[in-house]
Amino acid sequence: MRMMLVLLGPPGSGKGTQAKLLFEQFGCPQISTGDMLREAVRRGTELGRKAKAVMDAGGLVSDDIVIGLIRERLHEPDCANGCTLDGFPRTVVQAEALAGLIVGQFEIRVLYFDVPEDILVRRLTGRRNCVQCGAIFNVDSAPSARPDVCDRCGGALTQRDDDREETVRRRLAVFRSQTEPLIEWYRSRGVLETVTGDRGVEEIFRQIQQVLA
Ligand code: AMP
Repeated sequence: MRMMLVLLGPPGSGKGTQAKLLFEQFGCPQISTGDMLREAVRRGTELGRKAKAVMDAGGLVSDDIVIGLIRERLHEPDCANGCTLDGFPRTVVQAEALAGLIVGQFEIRVLYFDVPEDILVRRLTGRRNCVQCGAIFNVDSAPSARPDVCDRCGGALTQRDDDREETVRRRLAVFRSQTEPLIEWYRSRGVLETVTGDRGVEEIFRQIQQVLA
């Protein structure tokens, strides 16, 4: 059966970076509800307007909205052979909806990215994103040669509004209360593997390849 890979972990645990590597290596599309919501905000759609205040405050957008986004996205032809879900599900309600959407079509595997909280805060507040190509840098661990310019495409680097420290703390608290229960939820279904996420990007990627092999 085709595989649906869920990357589960707190904000800043490296899900997006690893999803991009998985795409480069295996061609499985990265589906990030965070990216989809940010795109809706950028385009100023009704959904974007609804989501913006919640996202800026570090809260979770309603289950109905994100489940709707995922339901539509999974019907796109590039998902026919499987995909990587980055940042979805984030609640038990979302996990139950996902199970219903893929039943009989995909085998689900979940990678939990385990990273200590102090490292997450440092990573998130130091994160810089290229507005043009989406590349992710970090002022401490993976800086671009010039602080405001993307090494890859020359685009401008910015900090996400929700990567400021106060919002980061709120996002981590939301992870603990809303998303952490999913670890047990998936573990009890025998589909969860843990990845030690406080290592270098390449080392984590090797670990993921071993787990999936
Ligand atoms: P991310 O880029 O995954 O950190 O997501 C950024 C923000 O988008 C989150 O802090 C939430 O406000 C919202 N968001 C992304 N994915 C979800 C989801 N599955 N459920 C609810 N809100 C989400």
